[in-house]
Amino acid sequence: MKKRILLLAGGQSGEHEVSLMSARSVLAALPRDQFDVTPVAISKQGRWLPPTDTRQALENGVAATGGDLVLHRVASAEGYDAVFPLLHGPMGEDGTVQGLLTLAGIPFVGSGVLGSAVSMDKVMTKQVLASAGIPQVAWRLAVRREWSTDQDGVRARAAELGFPLFVKPANLGSSVGISKVHGPEELDAALDLAFSLDRRVILEAMTASRPRELEVGVLGNDAPIASPVGELRFASEFYDYETKYTEGRAEVHIPAPIPEDVARRVRELALTAFRALDCAGLARVDFFYLEESGELVLNEVNTMPGFTQTSMYPKLFEAAGLGYSELVTRLVELALEER
Ligand code: ADP
Ligand code: MG
Ligand code: MG
Repeated sequence: MKKRILLLAGGQSGEHEVSLMSARSVLAALPRDQFDVTPVAISKQGRWLPPTDTRQALENGVAATGGDLVLHRVASAEGYDAVFPLLHGPMGEDGTVQGLLTLAGIPFVGSGVLGSAVSMDKVMTKQVLASAGIPQVAWRLAVRREWSTDQDGVRARAAELGFPLFVKPANLGSSVGISKVHGPEELDAALDLAFSLDRRVILEAMTASRPRELEVGVLGNDAPIASPVGELRFASEFYDYETKYTEGRAEVHIPAPIPEDVARRVRELALTAFRALDCAGLARVDFFYLEESGELVLNEVNTMPGFTQTSMYPKLFEAAGLGYSELVTRLVELALEER
C-alpha cells in the first residue's frame, strides 16, 4: 500500500520562501508508486492553507496570508503515515511543530522535540557540544532584558571576546540578523538588530584568521552515517543572506579539497554532535577550518537544511551515490523506523 505523506512547507520564519523552494523539489522527487503526497503550505502568519491556496503558494513561492488555525487543521493530519515538516527556522525547525506532531501521534521526518529545539538555539547547541568535547569558538550569551537595563554589561561581554566578532540572534537561520562587528563603534547597531529578532543573542569570537567553511551531511537515526565533506567559497566578507541565495555568489566544492585526516575529523565530529544533540533523520553540520593551524571548530547544526535539488545537503549525499529521490525516500523510511 502507498504511504500517505503530508508535506509541510512555508512557515513563519524568515526562511519561508526557502522552505517553499525546497518543498517543490521534494514534492517532485518522492516516488509516486510508493507515496501519496499532500502538500500543505503554512502562511507567514502560521495558518495552514487548503489545497488550492497551497498549490498557488508553491507556484508563487510565497504564502503571505490566508489559511486556518493550526489547531483546527492538525486533526486533518490524522490518517497520514508520516509528515515531512520541510520548515526552516523558528516555528518549524525548533521543536514546536515536532511537539504538535508528537502529540498527534504522527511519525515525522527529522529530529524530535529535543534535538530540534536544542539545535535551533545556537547557545544551547554550544553548551551541549562543549560537554561533548567538541571544539568551538569562544562565545557569550545576552538576553533582551539585559540589553535594555545594562548595556555596558553587554558591551563588556563583547570586549572580552575582542573584535571583530559576530552578533547573531540565537534562534534563526539563513544569516538573518547576523552582523560581523569590526569594532566597538558597530556593536550597538548589531545588538539592536539581533534583539529585534530574538530574545536571546549570541556573541561569538572569530577564529584567528578567515576560516574556510566546510559542511557535512548526516543521515540516520541511532546509527547515523556521514556524507563526504563539502566546501563553500565566496567573495563576500561572510556567508550572508545575499551570498546564500543569489545565484552565482557562492561555489560549492564536493569533495572539499582538504587533507584526508581533516575530512575524517569533520565527519567524526559531525556524528558525535548529531548524537550529543539527539538529532534524528538528517542534519547538516557546519565547520570552520583554519588551514594554517589545522584547527577545526564546529559552527552550527541545521536539523532541516535547505533541500532544493542544488542545496548542499542533497548534493553531499549525491556525491556518496545516493540520488535525490532515493534520499527523500530514505528520510521517510527513517521517520517510520522502529527505534
Ligand atoms: P545561520 O544559522 O544563519 O546560517 P551561522 O552561525 O552559520 O548562521 O552564520 C552565518 C555565516 O556567518 C557563517 O556561514 C560564516 O560565514 C559567518 N560566521 C558566523 N559565525 C562566525 C564566526 N564565529 N567566525 C567566522 N565567521 C562566522
Ligand atoms: Mg543555521
Ligand atoms: Mg549557517
